[in-house]
Amino acid sequence: MENIPDWAAFEADRLKSFKRWPFKKGPCNPVQMAEAGFYFIGSKSEPDLARCYVCCKELDGWEEHDNPWLEHKKHAPKCPYVLLDKKPADLTVKDMYTLEAERMKRVLVMRHEAQVKTLNEIKACVLEELDKLTNKGGKDNRKRSTRPASKRSSRKD
Ligand SMILES: [Zn+2]
Repeated sequence: MENIPDWAAFEADRLKSFKRWPFKKGPCNPVQMAEAGFYFIGSKSEPDLARCYVCCKELDGWEEHDNPWLEHKKHAPKCPYVLLDKKPADLTVKDMYTLEAERMKRVLVMRHEAQVKTLNEIKACVLEELDKLTNKGGKDNRKRSTRPASKRSSRKD
């Protein structure tokens, strides 16, 4: 996952990202999308994909009558932007810094998760190769390495 662009912290810049947004009328319009913290990340295959600039929640499948704020609240109830429950025009400088800190935290968590995923994939490949090397010649080799039955102690001695 790529980083959230710095410009996404500003409502006016988020609004500019919705040039190719499919809904211009109804509540699901670019103005309300940007107000609700979303910016456009859609493509030809996903023409209505948007992401929250704070919690990084990505939502698609929008409909013209959807209320972006309520959808954000429903799908990301713990988002710091949702919990703040303010319109962008009402945000204080302190709010902006708080949201920026939360955004950075989320970015770091996402980077960490991506690194862990990559390392686990590498680990799985290495283990698979090691397994191939140690079991070269088939499963019969492994059976020979088990303890032989003659190791049993006998009371007759
Ligand atoms: Zn959010």
